[in-house]
Amino acid sequence: MTQQTAANHYGFTLPEELILLRDQIRRFMREEVKPIEDELPHDATGCSAEDRKHLRSIAEEMGLTRTSVPEEYGGNPISTLARVIITEESSKCRLGAYSPALGAFGGGPPNIIWGGTPQQIEKYGIPSVEGSLFAFVAITEPTGGSDPRNNIQTRAVKKGSHWILNGRKMWITGAKLASYGIIFARTDDGGEGQPPQITAFIVEPHFPGISFNEIEVIRALSPYEIVLEDCEIPEENVLGKVGEGFSVAQNWLVDARIPYAAGCIGIAQEALDMACGWVKNRPVRGGMLDGKQAIQWMIADSEVELRAARLLVYAAASRVDAGENVKVDASICKLYGTETAGRVVDRAIQMFGGMGVAKEMPLERWYRELRVKRIGEGPSEVHRMVIARDKLRNTDGGSYFG
Ligand SMILES: Cc1cc2nc3c(=O)[nH]c(=O)nc-3n(C[C@H](O)[C@H](O)[C@H](O)COP(=O)(O)OP(=O)(O)OC[C@H]3O[C@@H](n4cnc5c(N)ncnc54)[C@H](O)[C@@H]3O)c2cc1C
Repeated sequence: MTQQTAANHYGFTLPEELILLRDQIRRFMREEVKPIEDELPHDATGCSAEDRKHLRSIAEEMGLTRTSVPEEYGGNPISTLARVIITEESSKCRLGAYSPALGAFGGGPPNIIWGGTPQQIEKYGIPSVEGSLFAFVAITEPTGGSDPRNNIQTRAVKKGSHWILNGRKMWITGAKLASYGIIFARTDDGGEGQPPQITAFIVEPHFPGISFNEIEVIRALSPYEIVLEDCEIPEENVLGKVGEGFSVAQNWLVDARIPYAAGCIGIAQEALDMACGWVKNRPVRGGMLDGKQAIQWMIADSEVELRAARLLVYAAASRVDAGENVKVDASICKLYGTETAGRVVDRAIQMFGGMGVAKEMPLERWYRELRVKRIGEGPSEVHRMVIARDKLRNTDGGSYFG
């Protein structure tokens, strides 16, 4: 049992109901998810449909399958802080980055679907919540993902009752396996000094003119290239207003960044706790490994950085819940959460020695997946740019010279 069970969560006082929620998720992970995961191959990306159904039914009983669904569609929306707690706890498993909990209470549609028409919500949104549909979101292109508004070259042209899309998307997670996806395309180049206009479209893999190529990467779950050659999309599949897709994409990305960081922190905390258990029992000359200062410093640095990262994430989540603008906070969480988690898992591997890189342990997998986390959802450098610009805009100079 770690110090995390304290009501005062590393200096951040969680409301009583979130402490109960956290304990409930821990129990679910230990009693339901772990036994299933123990039977899976090392590089699995999910469990069997039967196991997923079983986990979902328990999550349903816990009231945790509709937490991203607005109330008017039968949902049970929760606070961002609650979402962060669930993500952090449910990432503490071998499949960490692909949790929450093997799709039991994760998944669901990208929240932008709730801005769609009633027909789109009924056709795509509701079945996604029920676990029968799974979606991809395609923003990035071969021309670059760091500056999507200008890099999106995929073009959509209206022809009768259809839009015709031409272009390519890159690195799209799970695209070929999904039942539908949301693709962002350019519908207007913008004028002198005006940015291009981007529109969001809902596509299905069987639409004419769409194909997928798998891209093998460092992690188990593959992303895909999507090729669009005169891909025909019915008019009613425009998501939101024509030309307003970029703000839709941006809101979705900002919204996702804080829980994204929480998931990384959960994985890294588990790695650190595992390493502490290991070094206490690993004999070296003169005692156990935990008596060595070199090891203690790795533990101390990891603990300090993880507490700092967690406080940033909880504070940002609380600001979302208070209705504040968190664009910069979300960048801070994404940057510090992913980079901290990468360093902590790296140190944990070092403390385990050879066992740290063995496939039978989850550490090497977490290490590979956390490497991707510093690139996906905006690379670290882009978040540093957002943070620095904001700081420079709002700071004229210190009081010393003033
Ligand atoms: C496994 C995986 C899954 C992904 N899943 C999805 C998905 O589902 N949907 C989706 O739309 N995208 C997805 N992506 C794409 C991801 O969001 C992009 O890779 C990311 O935004 C970076 O874009 P890029 O790869 O084109 O790199 P580029 O934009 O070419 O940038 C390359 C590097 O240049 C540096 N850089 C870029 N801009 C700046 C700057 N302004 N200042 C300083 N340095 C800079 C950064 O170090 C960056 O890593 C995924 C990527 C991976 C690897």
